Amino acid sequence: MGNVDMGTDYDAVIIGAGMGGLSCGTLLAKEGLSVLICEQSSKPGGYCRNFKRNGFTFAPAAHFLNEFGPNGQMKEAFQTLGLPPEIEFRPQDPQRRIMTPHFHLTLSTDIDRFERDLIHLFPRERLSIHAYIEEWKRLVKNIEGLSIKSFDLISFKEKLQLLYKGIRKVPQVLRYRGKTGREILDSFFKDPLLKYLLTFGARKDSSIFTCASPIIWAIKGDYYHVKDKGIDALPQLFLRYYKAYGGEISLNTLVKKIVIEQDKARGVLTDGGEEIQSKYVVSNGDGHLTFQSLIGNDLLPRRFVRRLQERELSGPTFTLYLGVDLDLAQMGFDGALIHYYPTISKNPWEERDGEGFDIENGRMTIRMDSIKNPMLAPMGKHTVAISTFVPYEIFTDGGNVSPHYTEIKEKIAQKIIDITEKVIPGLSSHIMVRDASTPLTYERTTLNTHGAAMGWYLSAKEFSRIRSQKTPIANLYQAGHWTFPGGGIPMVIISGISAAKLVLKRMKKFTPKCRMEDKS
Ligand SMILES: Cc1cc2nc3c(=O)[nH]c(=O)nc-3n(C[C@H](O)[C@H](O)[C@H](O)COP(=O)(O)OP(=O)(O)OC[C@H]3O[C@@H](n4cnc5c(N)ncnc54)[C@H](O)[C@@H]3O)c2cc1C
Repeated sequence: MGNVDMGTDYDAVIIGAGMGGLSCGTLLAKEGLSVLICEQSSKPGGYCRNFKRNGFTFAPAAHFLNEFGPNGQMKEAFQTLGLPPEIEFRPQDPQRRIMTPHFHLTLSTDIDRFERDLIHLFPRERLSIHAYIEEWKRLVKNIEGLSIKSFDLISFKEKLQLLYKGIRKVPQVLRYRGKTGREILDSFFKDPLLKYLLTFGARKDSSIFTCASPIIWAIKGDYYHVKDKGIDALPQLFLRYYKAYGGEISLNTLVKKIVIEQDKARGVLTDGGEEIQSKYVVSNGDGHLTFQSLIGNDLLPRRFVRRLQERELSGPTFTLYLGVDLDLAQMGFDGALIHYYPTISKNPWEERDGEGFDIENGRMTIRMDSIKNPMLAPMGKHTVAISTFVPYEIFTDGGNVSPHYTEIKEKIAQKIIDITEKVIPGLSSHIMVRDASTPLTYERTTLNTHGAAMGWYLSAKEFSRIRSQKTPIANLYQAGHWTFPGGGIPMVIISGISAAKLVLKRMKKFTPKCRMEDKS
């Protein structure tokens, strides 16, 4: 177990070194608390990391970032964590291209061009398209300067003020609260294909805010990537500062149990059988595992367990990684995310989610990260990562890994290559490196149940609920995409900071004042 002194009591133990755990640990260590992060894998970052194959560098999950611009919320987050602005975040414009066999559409910060292109394709919906885009322009103008705050950390009076301010400044929040993208798009448009495209692939009962996010990001110019090293730069920076503040990390250390005494979290038990005592525990791990395996249903309120069992997971992903000796930039690609719809049925709006799984009928996202970050591939060569929704169950048999796992994975990879040839001609004869992650790979490497990409699925109903980072167990908090505010790197950084603030708030309450003053 690394060089951790097992006799030590820590102020806080954090389970998991994803970006949620790292940001929580960094703030706690910066405030002078003794902190240990236990991470089951050999690298920090969770979903936020790179891997290399024969000179090509790939990001299995996170690749674009929001809130990292000059007016984004990450500026304040970095200041709170005492992190220097040493990573260069570059705006990515255009943000994405929608490609189908019949037409192409570009979504960029030139939102008026997007509006014109949409009107060109759907002339009968001209007025509705204009009204819809104007609605999001108004929202963007009104949310400027508002930041995401955890309700756990503010007083009742502040909550009322925040609600009042939010409703007054952003009336859409009240108007669309709990409404699905489907309901709102139905109220604006008639054309089923147009409505389908404007969901940008979100599930049918997703909130309208989820569906409209790409348009909101385009209007705000809020779409970034990390220059040079790619996404790995983030966990590396956080870990460096976490350690400099005195934080400890134990890699290859799986937490098997959260120790609970007198209804309070008192530390963790690792797979090596060591018990590490702490005053507080923060879980950055999976929502099911944290409660059902690390604690156990019998120690939790029945209502809480029932709710856990009812909740849905965010979608599993299959990603194929290719290193190619094609000069994609020369071929005219600019590194914008591509949403490719290989076929579009007559009425995609009426089809049900996940019905009759077929890659050809779905949507693929194609990334060519090395176009923006030439350091990710050898000179003149490029990385291509193609992701698509594939059900977890396809790879399993009676709850175990299917005996045909390798063949199934290979078949899906080959199908993806065949389809992508229509976007990148000649692709199959220029592949130098090839690898793939199935939902099981994502699950194995991060312990996210079924490889859930963003923690719990936030349907319109869930989206509108007030969610807490506190748990039914005293002194146990959550940080990361299984709790407030939700999935995505900026959200889990905010979540980690809020979890740390909850611990600090409790410490101040229950620790003699002089001790906290000594440390500051
Ligand atoms: C395919 C894909 C694409 C994505 N694209 C983007 C994107 O472009 N932009 C974006 O912002 N977000 C993206 N996301 C989402 C984003 O990556 C996640 O929401 C975010 O990284 C989650 O961070 P986290 O800290 O909550 O948890 P995780 O990254 O899941 O980290 C949790 C950590 O806890 C460790 N752990 C869990 N249980 C234990 C235990 N019992 N003992 C010890 N260690 C444990 C795990 O090993 C892991 O390191 C994507 C996700 C996927 C899957």
